Amino acid sequence: MLFQQLREKAKRYPKVDLHRHLEGSIRFSTILDIATRERIPLPTHDPEELRRYVQVNEKELPDYHSFLGKFRILRQIYSSREAIQRIAYEVVLDAAKDNVRYLELRFNPLALSQAQGFPLLKVSEWVIEAGLKAAEEGKIRLNFLITITRDTDLEDAKKLVQLALELRSKGVVGLDLAGDEVNYRAYPFAPLFRDARRKGLGITIHAGEVTGAGSVYEAVEILGAHRIGHGVKAVEDVNVLDLLKFKKVVLEMCLTSNLQTGAIKRLDEHPFLPLLRLGILVTLNTDDPGISGTSLTDEYLLAIRGLGLTQEELTAVIRNGILGAFLPPSEKVKLVEEFNREFESMGLPLIPRVEEVWIWR
Ligand SMILES: [Zn+2]
Repeated sequence: MLFQQLREKAKRYPKVDLHRHLEGSIRFSTILDIATRERIPLPTHDPEELRRYVQVNEKELPDYHSFLGKFRILRQIYSSREAIQRIAYEVVLDAAKDNVRYLELRFNPLALSQAQGFPLLKVSEWVIEAGLKAAEEGKIRLNFLITITRDTDLEDAKKLVQLALELRSKGVVGLDLAGDEVNYRAYPFAPLFRDARRKGLGITIHAGEVTGAGSVYEAVEILGAHRIGHGVKAVEDVNVLDLLKFKKVVLEMCLTSNLQTGAIKRLDEHPFLPLLRLGILVTLNTDDPGISGTSLTDEYLLAIRGLGLTQEELTAVIRNGILGAFLPPSEKVKLVEEFNREFESMGLPLIPRVEEVWIWR
């Protein structure tokens, strides 16, 4: 099949994205527009130069810390309620246009509040309001995760957990731990995350992206993660793989991001397919489509063309995405039925029968 035809087909698949950062998904044209309109003092206002600060370019060598550095520059453009709401609205609409039907969008209220000292509750409500408006227009099911970065002090982290709990009725379904896993450990956050899990929030932890399988073990056993962001290094320890399988931990994998951060050196070294074939619950996600210049359709194309994902495996990955969502079991069953109706009309293999929709304990 010609590339363009394959792309069109992949775009039409109904998809699930469990791992997408609001702050990493902003359209470049919007960054430029907000920066110019609100006279934001960025390192440069030249479009091509600015692009290097906020997006990964092909000439750049893969590097974890320079990837994370893009988020720091972006923090300056969260300068008004209008800017923040425009960003959230467009990010959700872009996902809808890519045929993402269920999205868990994560955002970091501390990062969004920083430029102007906005109250955490306010910025979060702005994101949620604008996101839900776009979700309605784009006919996409949307929930939110609150991100805490590893360098956050514990008092602030406590406020963010409280915030997530307060916003549950508005669509916040979980907590995410993100940021620099080389210089900051996850375990200081364990009491907070375990408590949040007991109170019903879903827990996902960025781990095993650039540090070893031990960090995946720590995330699951010490912090109580239901899901792991990336987890590519889990393959280094067979005991950790057993743990993931036994506890039905879902891996949120993001191929382009892993190449750009240097988490993996070459696509054919990515453990995505071997892990899927081992029965680990792997899913395919975007991470930061704006910074990385990707979409979920592109990620599926990479898995199909670059790794050899079959059509049966493709529906299995989408099934894992639905089962790994922080949604009640009845809604997951409904999503499977909806997706299967579309797969049938597209002549694609159906999502294998869901025998068991678990609730993690
Ligand atoms: Zn991430």
